[in-house]
Amino acid sequence: MKTFDVVVVGGGPAGATAAAELARDGFSVLLLDRAGRTKPCGGAIPPRLVTDFAIPESLIVARATSARMVSPSERQIDMPIVGGYIGMVDREHFDEWLRERAAASGALRREGTFEALERDVDGVAVVRYRQRDRSASGPANAPSTQVPDGTPGRIRARMVIGADGARSEVAKQAIEGAERGRCVFAYHEILRMPASQDGASARCEVHYRGRLSPDFYGWVFPHGDTVSVGTGSADKGFSLRSAVGELRRSVALAGAETLRREGAPLPMKPLPRWDNGRDVLLVGDAAGVVAPASGEGIYYAMVSAQMAAGAAAKALRTGNGRALGAARREFMRAHGRVFWVLGVMQWFWYSSDRRRERFVSMCRDPDVQQLTFDAYMHKRLVRKRPMAHLRIFFKDLAHLLGLVHA
Ligand SMILES: Cc1cc2nc3c(=O)[nH]c(=O)nc-3n(C[C@H](O)[C@H](O)[C@H](O)COP(=O)(O)OP(=O)(O)OC[C@H]3O[C@@H](n4cnc5c(N)ncnc54)[C@H](O)[C@@H]3O)c2cc1C
Repeated sequence: MKTFDVVVVGGGPAGATAAAELARDGFSVLLLDRAGRTKPCGGAIPPRLVTDFAIPESLIVARATSARMVSPSERQIDMPIVGGYIGMVDREHFDEWLRERAAASGALRREGTFEALERDVDGVAVVRYRQRDRSASGPANAPSTQVPDGTPGRIRARMVIGADGARSEVAKQAIEGAERGRCVFAYHEILRMPASQDGASARCEVHYRGRLSPDFYGWVFPHGDTVSVGTGSADKGFSLRSAVGELRRSVALAGAETLRREGAPLPMKPLPRWDNGRDVLLVGDAAGVVAPASGEGIYYAMVSAQMAAGAAAKALRTGNGRALGAARREFMRAHGRVFWVLGVMQWFWYSSDRRRERFVSMCRDPDVQQLTFDAYMHKRLVRKRPMAHLRIFFKDLAHLLGLVHA
């Protein structure tokens, strides 16, 4: 049984990023991914991700340069995105490109499903998995031997990175408290963009309407030839499919050709622990890093993976598993406050149609627009405009107290 420095379980944005970073750093890395299914996702990414992670322009299938906010009474507020854009990627191609970059950096790719984390006699972690039949197609550097589907495999790993998404199996087996992580369920339909809607391709829409989601929002994200129409909710009794049907009708997409219908859980909160203090570390959705209120997870998955790679490298070099705790600390220092603010925002503004109506009317404000997009695009609050912050604070307060009519 071969021993790798690192086995990364899951080849989404988090896993592929962690694998690339660690391989570049000189470690022997195996990237194990179940493959065969494109991640259900709206595919919206901020420009900061494109620059920080050197994403080629060719992967960005559309750029939204304005956002339309729609209230429960169907009032529409159009917000121009000044000096930037919201990028749209197709996960089928985006994820595969990231996995190939990991391979080009030196990671070995293997298609298979993680099953269990075991221990060898010397205490080293053993990843047990079921290999996928690679005879049809697959990455260039995959093992050349063709094995039947489901062949069991075992690999020793000095370090295991759990990047296997929401409700991670690695987390369940190795990290205390992981089973308590809660999820929202998000569902979308991918439609062929009708020629008549061409003008809408530079605009994304966010629908804050209780009928479309009692606790989240509905979206229409253009992807060039296609469009993602979706919604999410933590309420298990709420029919996401009927809500998407209603959303499609209200944006004149009821008759558009449906190419795919799919959904997946979305974590609601970072887990209290990401590591076992020894040799297992979680990243991305597995660690619960999705921003509340917006559901944005791709950027945070990749950032958490970068931080995890640094912590794992240190633990491997020093032999001190306690170094792994630095990944979560660094992430929460950088993004914890924003997550907290977004959590409060979601809890307050998404709780009734009356509040949603006020929330959308606040978006008319140019200061709110500027700060929202600056924060989204660049992932930082712009400190050079303290008066704008102050004005927003008082306007927010006035809306909260009902002094301003929606
Ligand atoms: C409907 C929907 C819409 C969304 N829209 C957006 C959006 O517009 N913008 C945004 O930023 N975020 C969005 N998100 C969130 C975003 O998709 C996730 O946060 C992001 O994909 C997390 O990346 P990840 O690498 O941690 O996990 P994932 O992307 O889930 O990747 C996990 C990987 O692990 C593999 N895997 C799972 N189990 C195993 C196993 N047992 N063995 C081997 N491999 C395994 C999977 O095949 C997959 O490749 C959306 C989510 C949903 C559900």
